[in-house]
Amino acid sequence: MATSSNEKAAALTTTPSDSPTIFNKIINKEIPSKIVYEDEKVLAFRDISPQAPTHIIIIPKVKDGLTRLSMAEERHVEILGHLLYVAKLVAKQENLDDGFRVVINDGPLRCQSVYHLHVHLLGGRQMNWPPG
Ligand code: AMP
Repeated sequence: MATSSNEKAAALTTTPSDSPTIFNKIINKEIPSKIVYEDEKVLAFRDISPQAPTHIIIIPKVKDGLTRLSMAEERHVEILGHLLYVAKLVAKQENLDDGFRVVINDGPLRCQSVYHLHVHLLGGRQMNWPPG
């Protein structure tokens, strides 16, 4: 599994912007990914640098200004709810029957490195609180 220092360095060196990200290439199938769930609104795929035995990224197919959660507006309420509901569906599909964690990093200081809103779904190991 990747080290947290790598993730932190990536986040601190990425400038927040509304430009297309690597996730657009995944949505457009321009680069390979391990897709585990797809519907008309969202896509879920395995994280390339997993932080837990199960680590899945869930994204809206249309960013619509949602570079990060702090950019959310009222028009995003439906997609935000859908992302969480899909997290539950994928957790079930992945047999995370003893529970899971969802994480949304917002901004460089909170380790966001890709500016296309995404939910991390993590499971398969004991976790700690507070998070690092
Ligand atoms: P965050 O640090 O919250 O912005 O999360 C971005 C996540 O995207 C990280 O966990 C990366 O490992 C993951 N990621 C970046 N590029 C890819 C990719 N091509 N395929 C799958 N996951 C990726």
